[in-house]
Amino acid sequence: MEKKADINTLLKRIEILEKRLDKLDPVAKTKLPSKKDQIDDIKKNIDKWSQKFPSLDIEFELLKMLDWLQANQKRKKDYKAFFRNWLRKSSNSIEKEVQDIYRYVYGCKNDESCKQQESEYKDMVIFCNKCNSQKEIIKSIRG
Ligand SMILES: [Zn+2]
Repeated sequence: MEKKADINTLLKRIEILEKRLDKLDPVAKTKLPSKKDQIDDIKKNIDKWSQKFPSLDIEFELLKMLDWLQANQKRKKDYKAFFRNWLRKSSNSIEKEVQDIYRYVYGCKNDESCKQQESEYKDMVIFCNKCNSQKEIIKSIRG
């Protein structure tokens, strides 16, 4: 999905779609503001959301969520709550991805004075001229 996609254009499309859906299946009256007002409120508070979820691009996540809702023809009563869950899930998966990245430290087991080298690959062939043997992974670093 293009990040530059225009939220307003997307909102307009959703509004039209929802008007159509409303005719087919009127939403139960709730005390929550309309979807447009709820999304506007999220947009106005992008900075606040960013503080809560610093690892995420909030504007992009909002676009992704709106896109997902539209693609799946889903309607929510409480978009803020849904967005909060959406961000929580996204940030968990990002943290998991970061955690899963390992770096491997290659060195010589018999000679600690040999230079150590880090690599993100665990199948490197690094030769030590001093020991005249191949360096081995002596530890791995997470994140
Ligand atoms: Zn060595």
